[in-house]
Amino acid sequence: MKLKLEEEDSGKMEGKRKKLESKKSENGILLLDKIKVFTRSLLVNLTNRKSPIILIDRFKNHCTLSDSNCFCGSDLPVGKEVLTLCKETHVRRLDVMLRVLVIVQKLLQENKHSSKRDIYYMHPSVFLDQSVVDHAINDICVLMQCSRHNLNVVSAGNGLVMGWIRFVEGKKIFDCISSPDTAHPIPVYVEEIKDIVSAARYILVVEKESVFQRLANDQFCKSNHCIVISGRGYPDIPTRRFLRLLVENLHIPAYCLVDCDPYGFDILTTYRFGSMQMAYDTKHLRVPEIHWLGAFPSDSERYFVPKQCLLPLTAEDKRKIEAMLLRCYLQREVPQWRLELKMMLQKGVKFEIEALSVHTLSFLTESYIPSKIHGKVQI
Ligand SMILES: [Zn+2]
Repeated sequence: MKLKLEEEDSGKMEGKRKKLESKKSENGILLLDKIKVFTRSLLVNLTNRKSPIILIDRFKNHCTLSDSNCFCGSDLPVGKEVLTLCKETHVRRLDVMLRVLVIVQKLLQENKHSSKRDIYYMHPSVFLDQSVVDHAINDICVLMQCSRHNLNVVSAGNGLVMGWIRFVEGKKIFDCISSPDTAHPIPVYVEEIKDIVSAARYILVVEKESVFQRLANDQFCKSNHCIVISGRGYPDIPTRRFLRLLVENLHIPAYCLVDCDPYGFDILTTYRFGSMQMAYDTKHLRVPEIHWLGAFPSDSERYFVPKQCLLPLTAEDKRKIEAMLLRCYLQREVPQWRLELKMMLQKGVKFEIEALSVHTLSFLTESYIPSKIHGKVQI
């Protein structure tokens, strides 16, 4: 009987895998067709001695309009860029785009994957800088109306996960539950993740690896039945897509713990609202459900952070905060976040999460995080 069930299960899994693979190849064929149509129209124009006109939609994840009449963060473009062969900079941009497009076409045809860095090293003397390749990949995604992973372009994963979760990526099993305080790398092929099983009560996202390590050393996941994720600074695409996948599938709260400084706040907004560079794909990358757990500027008094742990804001910090205060989504969606950010500027100081460990080494895991989560001191 057991054997039969297992056979049925493996049959089901095989069916699921085949379905996933056929969907992937369908997407690949569709994209290859789009690439063909695009390049053919360029060629037709050129052979007819006409300068092709390429329209690229522009997306924004925020603006500085004080009223809420903007399309930031939505699926709607805020305008169009018009590329022609009359401008030298446009010719160069198109040249790079076509070179990258040829590489992408080959990746899709051969069902292979490549990193942005690999692509750069295919023509380093032409591309000159990684950012040029990144820009071209974004242009291609906008033109082809797809996400970056659809082009088979992936980034080397930088994120970490631990806690009460088990899932399968392709044929690999990530069994974090068997040792909930051991770090696992976040998979790069997030679209291949399936069979997510979890008994976690919440997801905690921490900005820094050092804080992740502190939690691991204190066996935080084991005693708090949670999942902890770190993007190790600004989160990469797989980390953000993975977090979004978990929130969508598990329906549990997600909290974010960052340094109390302008960079920490910017990282927090990247998780919740996405980034400007990837604004065309915001709908797949942002996690609107995420709450800010800390550290708030007001925490320095609430948790008695000694004065010597508070660092003065630099002129650059102040400029960054002033610019962030103008972002339209803060006023519209999280006015309380904005108030705390304003307080950071008024107080003129910043502090790291680790400053809370001044009381005891385990203050963060034994007092601070539990008091924030259970006392609902999060915004
Ligand atoms: Zn806006």
